[in-house]
Amino acid sequence: MLWFDPVYLLFVALPLMLLSLLASAWVRMAYAQAARVLNRRGITGAQAARMILERAGLFDVAIEEHHGFLSDHYDPRERVVRLSPDVYHRPTLAAVGIAAHEVGHALQHASGYAPLVIRNLAVPLASIGSNLGYFVIMIGLFMSFGGAPVLNVFTGLGLLLIGAVAFFQIVNLPVEINASTRALRLLTDMGIVDYDELPTVRSVLTAAAFTYVAATAAALLELFYWLWRLGLIGGRDE
Ligand SMILES: [Zn+2]
Repeated sequence: MLWFDPVYLLFVALPLMLLSLLASAWVRMAYAQAARVLNRRGITGAQAARMILERAGLFDVAIEEHHGFLSDHYDPRERVVRLSPDVYHRPTLAAVGIAAHEVGHALQHASGYAPLVIRNLAVPLASIGSNLGYFVIMIGLFMSFGGAPVLNVFTGLGLLLIGAVAFFQIVNLPVEINASTRALRLLTDMGIVDYDELPTVRSVLTAAAFTYVAATAAALLELFYWLWRLGLIGGRDE
């Protein structure tokens, strides 16, 4: 990198790296614990997903095995719940919890859950923003070193892109938390897990939720840093 600000390194990059390490360590630990405990009914993640989808009448949503560790997700374009091999095949508390969470997204999709709709609208701009926002804003910053105003077309566009990432992460929070609360309710209502098994399932979903909180904190910190760096907040006199 041609340029870096020690403030950025110390107050943005470093804490965010630590936060993301902490989040991923927590999720791995909670998952490892819950993946050791077989659920009482002997239901695999794939079976739990199928049961919940059928009860909701979503017979056309497919369930597929997907390579990778904790790579589970719901694909709204193809309407497929993709589960990692362990979650798909093993009858553990971790497996049914994660499978039910991903099915929770399929249920949100089917019912037009508003935060999901808004989140999906924000995806294109946010994904450009997470790849290019930093570089666009840097171009604008270099132009200001050469005499252009600090607020020029590039810093403005960069702020918009970084703002879109923050917006996406904020709207993503209720989407993720709602998928987990749906999952816990359905798992107990349908008798897939018993009440005394619930805390173990919940610990995995809580740890997973923390990774989204960390991602939101990262996006906001990045946005506020640039607002400050460009003199829009906090009175930076240069
Ligand atoms: Zn999710």
